[in-house]
Amino acid sequence: MRGVVKKAAKTSASQSVSGITYRTVCQNPGCGYTFDLNVTPENASILSGTLGCPRCRRKGGMLRPQGRIGERLFAAQLVFRMTGLVGPADDEDETLGEAR
Ligand SMILES: [Zn+2]
Repeated sequence: MRGVVKKAAKTSASQSVSGITYRTVCQNPGCGYTFDLNVTPENASILSGTLGCPRCRRKGGMLRPQGRIGERLFAAQLVFRMTGLVGPADDEDETLGEAR
């Protein structure tokens, strides 16, 4: 006497409340790709760090939220720093004149 009672009951009732989706638009010139970025407490660090665009593969983008557009759905832009500028770069310290 075992029926198939356990099916079809909880499919749309999402138990996991944690996590939101950012509908992100890549701001790299010539790309403009839109992708959904799911942010959960596990990967929430991407909000304060950088990430890359899955289409143009450009790295170093920062997520800039643009506001809420739905239930746990937010608009965001993936913005990039200006590159190619002549100036002090913060990743190489070749201008330090301390020869040891
Ligand atoms: Zn892109």
